[in-house]
Amino acid sequence: MGRVWRPFAGAFLYVMGSAHKIDVGALLAGNRRGLVVDDRVTVAPFEGVEFPEPAAVHLELQASGRLLEIKGTIDVPLHGDCARCLGAVDDNMHLRVDEQVEAGPSLQDGPFAENNVLTGDRLDVADLAAQLVCSAIPIGLLCKEDCKGICPRCGENRNSTSCECNGETSG
Ligand SMILES: [Zn+2]
Ligand SMILES: [Zn+2]
Repeated sequence: MGRVWRPFAGAFLYVMGSAHKIDVGALLAGNRRGLVVDDRVTVAPFEGVEFPEPAAVHLELQASGRLLEIKGTIDVPLHGDCARCLGAVDDNMHLRVDEQVEAGPSLQDGPFAENNVLTGDRLDVADLAAQLVCSAIPIGLLCKEDCKGICPRCGENRNSTSCECNGETSG
């Protein structure tokens, strides 16, 4: 849906994929120089963070031997709660992708070992995007870098209200 396949580096190609899966067999076999993928994939909520709109995935694939090089970008809006003040966080995540995945049944090492990113000659763009996006979510999402959080004494949100507790709880 809305997927656009573009030739890359002068190679002609049109690949039929199903459900965000790309056949990279020709690439791995050395018959194609490269492949550009533009896709939009839905990312499931992860640890309290939601993705209200599909991620825009732009990937440039190249193979060297059985090694698939994946470069590109992923952009996705995210929604969650600030770890300090509990306020809503709405942001846009922009990720640079620079990954290598080795094809072949024997491969079980590397960042994508325990998943189905690359099964045989099929690259699962949705799975790849979901894993990269979820791994980029910081522990303790903040509404802003210097979020002042909630006063532990009076419970005021210090971003919007300055209470008179002097910010200290000691004593
Ligand atoms: Zn906050
Ligand atoms: Zn206070």
